Amino acid sequence: MKLVFIGPPGVGKGTYAQAVSQRFQIPHISTGDIFREEVKRGSELGRKVQYYLERGLLVPDEIVVEVVKARLSQDDCRRGFILDGFPRTLAQAEALEGFAPPDLVLNFVADDSVIVERLSGRRVCSKCGAIYHVKYMPPRFPGTCDKCGAPLVVRKDDRPEVIAERLALYREQFSPIISYYERRGKLVTISANAQAPEVIPVVISTIERFLRGRGQL
Ligand code: ADP
Ligand code: ZN
Repeated sequence: MKLVFIGPPGVGKGTYAQAVSQRFQIPHISTGDIFREEVKRGSELGRKVQYYLERGLLVPDEIVVEVVKARLSQDDCRRGFILDGFPRTLAQAEALEGFAPPDLVLNFVADDSVIVERLSGRRVCSKCGAIYHVKYMPPRFPGTCDKCGAPLVVRKDDRPEVIAERLALYREQFSPIISYYERRGKLVTISANAQAPEVIPVVISTIERFLRGRGQL
């Protein structure tokens, strides 16, 4: 099962990907995570992409495509994968169609008001990186990490004044990719206005329905 997950920041993509990864035993591959990890390790690739990550710029297509190609050729991807954060340009979508055409593309949508509430309520531990939400996943003591006791902070790009800008950028960047998959009949749109425990079963049953349709379940 080759899956691509698309959705704006704050839609809960990572949470759904984790659930789908467990249910179908396929890896969750996030290009953002791969790049951050390489930068942390100080690898050759990390040094190459650090410039772009620090400036919030897209890593050049040639580099991203090579990284994804190499990752998908690993053994754990034989039965499929979930791509998260890739493709992010039309050129990347076209390249992917050439070496590992996705079976299904899940397009997660939520109302702007829901996204703004989720992102602006998010708090991150300044020390260990644990993630909380003031309303949906509050720490035991306000402003303090349950795990390590360090202060919680608002990520720079979760500030309310930046969120609208991120959403506009997302729409601009992804609308051609969404149309690309729509034209190929691969796109399924899933509403993620509800909380994750309600959305996850919808995601799972959408994938199961697709597999059944192909006689693979
Ligand atoms: P963000 O929502 O902050 O962009 P991601 O985790 O998706 O978070 O990506 C982090 C960074 O990694 C991006 O800002 C970009 O520099 C790089 N990146 C990740 N995926 C891609 C991609 N498919 N194409 C180009 N750059 C990417
Ligand atoms: Zn902590």
